[in-house]
Amino acid sequence: MPKIEETFRPSEVKRVAFHTFGCKLNQSETATIAHQFDEHGYEIVDIDDPADLYVINTCTVTHKADAKARSQIRRALRISPDAFVAVVGCYAEYNPEEIASIKGVDLILGVEEKFKLLDMLANESKGERVWQKNPTPEIMLACDAGDYRSMESTPTLEMEGKTRIFLKIQDGCDYNCSFCIIPSVRGGGRALPLPQVVDQAQQIVENGYKEIVLTGVNTGTYLDENENQLIDVVQRLSGLPGLERLRLSSVEPDRMSDDLRQLIAERPNICAHLHLPLQHGSNRILGKMRRRYRIERYREVVERAFELMPNAGLGADVMVGFPGETDDDFAKTCQFIEGLPFSYLHVFTYSRRQGTDAASLDGQVDPQTHQRRSFVLRQLSKRKRQEFLDRQTGRVQDVLFEPGDGRTFLDGWTDNYARVRVPYQPELINEIHPVRLERREEGHLLGAVVQKQMEAA
Ligand code: SF4
Repeated sequence: MPKIEETFRPSEVKRVAFHTFGCKLNQSETATIAHQFDEHGYEIVDIDDPADLYVINTCTVTHKADAKARSQIRRALRISPDAFVAVVGCYAEYNPEEIASIKGVDLILGVEEKFKLLDMLANESKGERVWQKNPTPEIMLACDAGDYRSMESTPTLEMEGKTRIFLKIQDGCDYNCSFCIIPSVRGGGRALPLPQVVDQAQQIVENGYKEIVLTGVNTGTYLDENENQLIDVVQRLSGLPGLERLRLSSVEPDRMSDDLRQLIAERPNICAHLHLPLQHGSNRILGKMRRRYRIERYREVVERAFELMPNAGLGADVMVGFPGETDDDFAKTCQFIEGLPFSYLHVFTYSRRQGTDAASLDGQVDPQTHQRRSFVLRQLSKRKRQEFLDRQTGRVQDVLFEPGDGRTFLDGWTDNYARVRVPYQPELINEIHPVRLERREEGHLLGAVVQKQMEAA
């Protein structure tokens, strides 16, 4: 490994480590950047290993996300004190000055600039320029997100160690929910044109992946220049020869149309898994959040989906502690969740983000109440998860297997998003096999591969 002391020569970078915070979209974007480095001969190493360059792709939906990024930066510098550190993504866009104040950070790139990281290194290498290591980052590029109308078209064609790929088809959001900083960080909604989506999906299938997960900031608002909508994307991709599974990530409830539900239910290779952000179970709070549905509409969407797919997986994002949330509002959220067949919840604690309208609302909830409500909701989520897994036991379901721990077991996912574990059999990795789901353990199901049993019999 080259010794980097006072200065940094981009040409000396050999080992690059990546770490991602936040959503599936961010994961897909890290994979895109890592793929660029991989193709150019860099060695991709684990984030806990010594490296010449650390790339931290950040999230900024909450204060906690920011704090986690800062702690990861310090951790990387403890492992390799002389390494070059690039902090990129949403937090870099939102608060570059705060990141710049961390000793050891060299480069800060916003949500669009992050895709230029490799080019920047390559250009610097050619010009023989040498960056000085700290105290202040040499380059800080975080632009006004309002300018962002482009759609990064570098495809995520491979993801290290994964059997499914997050395909980014959409970015940005025009919804303007009162608590959310994302539209001002990632800009307005835009879509990757359908022909490009199809091309990328085709390449992913040719690269041997079995499952594509469609991702974006507000995927349900997908609209390309030829007026193709999300349903057109789903229709085309589910007809793609060789694609065994297509999964939708989050879709806003107001965008889950009857036609889309029908299509998901009809096509066997579209996963029976819906993730519908709920955020709250009180209409009063939903109104203050400027969400585009009310609980009656949400319930209707779920009930209609379950008429068509009674064994579907159903996930939701739920927020506690929005300004003005009373005990009664919180109780409404719990009651609402109790009444629907959720299989998991992503529980978020409201985080006051400067630049959002909710930051100036009266009635900010105190930290103890945040904590208590968050705990109650996490417990509820756990119980809902267990009930869902219990409903699966005794069934035979197709499972797509991932690498597992490499010794004792393999993990995989059913199409309705139950995690399944079987004894280690390497030949099953990246294969879809029917599995008898035998019993629930903490957070997953133990199963037996049906086909193997039959062959052995
Ligand atoms: S839909 Fe609302 S919560 Fe989701 S990214 Fe857009 S503004 Fe944020």
